Amino acid sequence: MTTFINRLKQLHTRIQTAEITYHRPANSVQLLAVSKTKPAAIIAEAYQAGQRHFGENYVQEALSKQQALGAFDITWHFIGPIQSNKTKAIARHFDWVHSVDSLKTARRLSEQRPAHLTPLNICLQVNISDEASKSGFRLHELAALCEQVSTLPNIKLRGVMAIPAPCHSFEQQCQPYKALYQAVKMLNKPEMDTFSFGMSDDLDAAIAEGATIVRIGTALFGAR
Ligand SMILES: *Cc1c(COP(=O)(O)O)cnc(C)c1O
Repeated sequence: MTTFINRLKQLHTRIQTAEITYHRPANSVQLLAVSKTKPAAIIAEAYQAGQRHFGENYVQEALSKQQALGAFDITWHFIGPIQSNKTKAIARHFDWVHSVDSLKTARRLSEQRPAHLTPLNICLQVNISDEASKSGFRLHELAALCEQVSTLPNIKLRGVMAIPAPCHSFEQQCQPYKALYQAVKMLNKPEMDTFSFGMSDDLDAAIAEGATIVRIGTALFGAR
């Protein structure tokens, strides 16, 4: 077995174990394979092993891989920072966008989503660690924003994404996810069913606190 397929199996086991440990329903956590900087050939190998959801951070890089992999039935997720001159390509070529960090970006994605495609699934990126450098909305802005974004016709608000500041204890890793999960539940919007929480280093904490999509690069493809 290749290293990659071994890692994929280990990761599925780790996710299943966390679902059991933290009393989450079986298969409630989806693995998003973060393939940024990795070649199309590795994505093809992952696809052959059953992986269907892939996350990319850079538009140009993603488009060339999408071209190479046109024959594959892949669900593409955009997870990187969004510059306004890239919204058109993102609206056309992705199924999901996790990193919507302004109302302006949400409006552009809705306007630029081609009419023949289903609405673009989006998550609002929430800055839960209060770091000045990280993009995203603040928790207190969330309620008003969800109201505004929900009215946009060609995007579908599915939930939230967060990238907390790295911290090493499990309890510290849980805390920001817990706060964001509770804030979303308080909005009482059943269509917001997606919690894009957790990367290679805080996967278990994210699952403990309600992640429905974990975004995994390093633990799956190795170091970048
Ligand atoms: C790169 C990246 C990941 C994957 O991180 P790993 O630590 O390699 O698992 C997840 N989410 C976002 C937004 C990323 O940019």
